[in-house]
Amino acid sequence: MSIKAQKAAGGHDTPALPLEEARKRILDAVTALTDDESVGLHQALHRVLAEPVSAAIDVPAHTNSAMDGYALRGEDAVTADAELTLIGESFAGRPFAGSLGPGQCIRIMTGAVVPDGADTVIMQEQAERDGERVRFAKAAKPGANVRPAGEDLKRGDTALAPGRWLTAADLGVLASVGVPEVRVRRRPRVAFFSTGDELKPVGQPLEPGQIHDSNRYTLFGLLTELGVEIEDLGIVPDQRDALDQALQKASRCDAVLSTGGASVGDADYVVEALEKLGNVGFWQVAMKPGRPLAFGRINQAWFFGLPGNPVSAMVTFLQLVRPALVKLAGSTPALPLQVSLPVTADIRKRPGRREFQRGRLVTGESGPAVAPFGHQGSGVLRSMSEADCLINLPPELGDVAAGQSVLVEPFAQPIWNGA
Ligand code: AMP
Ligand code: MG
Repeated sequence: MSIKAQKAAGGHDTPALPLEEARKRILDAVTALTDDESVGLHQALHRVLAEPVSAAIDVPAHTNSAMDGYALRGEDAVTADAELTLIGESFAGRPFAGSLGPGQCIRIMTGAVVPDGADTVIMQEQAERDGERVRFAKAAKPGANVRPAGEDLKRGDTALAPGRWLTAADLGVLASVGVPEVRVRRRPRVAFFSTGDELKPVGQPLEPGQIHDSNRYTLFGLLTELGVEIEDLGIVPDQRDALDQALQKASRCDAVLSTGGASVGDADYVVEALEKLGNVGFWQVAMKPGRPLAFGRINQAWFFGLPGNPVSAMVTFLQLVRPALVKLAGSTPALPLQVSLPVTADIRKRPGRREFQRGRLVTGESGPAVAPFGHQGSGVLRSMSEADCLINLPPELGDVAAGQSVLVEPFAQPIWNGA
């Protein structure tokens, strides 16, 4: 049945796909871009590594001290009140030139090379110095406070594997092995636009019945965080021609995202346009918010027609679009990390479809809990802004009583599957 006929029948003829099935279909369809390029570390954040990076050196390069204190032979201070002779000092970057004999110690700072002969560091708080003599009140634990060379990475170890979506810590790891440049995959180019005759750009006053286009800003943020290249195509009116043109133009990119116009209303043309210009993979997902989601292909681009409601647009992006873009970028998307927590208040829910409510992680009377946001309307973007997690209520679930445990998906969670 054509999209037009399905809509005429109320849009409910196509059974909406379960969320997992929708995600599976998207991830089965999307394949990784293969081109790659070299970039410096400052350009590598949130890019996907194309080749393994192995350590050409031990990290740390030398056995060094974990404390400010005194380096000595552990066997010289295995009993309390040992007294040793101070013969020098080792600072970070300025090692002690000689080696240590029995009965001797040197002053040593955190990160400084532990000299030959020494195997133990005693922290300065446990030492008492009198000229050349240093007394250690407590017995030493041989080997204590010494960080062996290669403790972090040994020469030849794989520091980072290909497919990694590079994080801030990863940039540090690359620098620690002395790598100034890495091969990364080409960034997916993602075009996006908003549809709706009611939308006004920010900076322009609203006429009666108009609202500001907020979705494009949310998407700008979500896409920028992901590290993809973006092309903002602005606001497209609810007209078939305008929509066709926007989609054609956008389909030069690797992926296209629209918001609005994907539902069953009389001015909702997105899915019809997708059917005409490309292929509809599926339309409608059994979730709330986010039912009117369309997925398909136009020319070389994967197309995601997101709902117009700001919360629905964001939830569908996080659940379905982001994993697809991570795969397109050459990485392995992380599936939402779920933890089980008791809710602080009753939740009303009808069984039959999956629902995502906005929540906040709180410390309840008996430990960690999740507080559902009071107003759960899919137009209430503030609920998303104030939330720090989604409460994932599976289809079979009905009303939930306060104290019952629910699945919670924190917003701060891995984007790619680094496990
Ligand atoms: P639609 O999916 O086009 O039926 O839109 C659903 C709701 O989301 C309507 O109330 C729209 O006014 C609103 N909406 C659509 N697009 C946007 C947008 N870009 N920014 C803010 N609200 C929007
Ligand atoms: Mg609309």
